[in-house]
Amino acid sequence: MYPKKITTKDENLMIDWDDDKKTRISFRDLRKDCPCATCLAERENQNKDFIRIYNQNQILIRDIEQVGSYAVKITWKDGHATGIYEYSLLRRLSSL
Ligand SMILES: [Zn+2]
Repeated sequence: MYPKKITTKDENLMIDWDDDKKTRISFRDLRKDCPCATCLAERENQNKDFIRIYNQNQILIRDIEQVGSYAVKITWKDGHATGIYEYSLLRRLSSL
């Protein structure tokens, strides 16, 4: 499963998939599930009552680049750019 087209609209990532599904992920959800090692470790150390508060720069995307044929790298406005989002993760985070 891979994206045919990725666009942004009103702080959502809009994806057209090769199976003709069109899905949407809010920037906030993308940032919340950032798969980089730092964010993963941070999430593991949180207790379950922890509520993540994001500032605006943390949930705005500056750039999206394709990585190989399996993922995209997202650079956030606050400079965080270590998250490589595999297509399978994008699909999992997607809502229709
Ligand atoms: Zn991260």
